[in-house]
Amino acid sequence: MTPDHAKPTTGAEVDCKAALESLFEFLDGELDGSLEERLKAHVHECRPCFERADFERRFLAAVQAARTEERCPKALRERVLSTLRAEGLGA
Ligand SMILES: [Zn+2]
Repeated sequence: MTPDHAKPTTGAEVDCKAALESLFEFLDGELDGSLEERLKAHVHECRPCFERADFERRFLAAVQAARTEERCPKALRERVLSTLRAEGLGA
């Protein structure tokens, strides 16, 4: 664990802004190899981005699960809202 992400980025490295902008593509596995690797490395070292990615991953999983289990939009909405509440975000 080094405080490397505190120094200015050179452009080769992914910073928090770039990481968050590419987060959904990253979770969908839509990024190309090198960017995916850099993003993975950043998320691994950066606590805020890790927590953000972890939340989004669970959020997407909850949406996915609700979508396959039940077709009722109301039930889906409830499921997503309860997930958000469980994460302490409220909605
Ligand atoms: Zn970050």
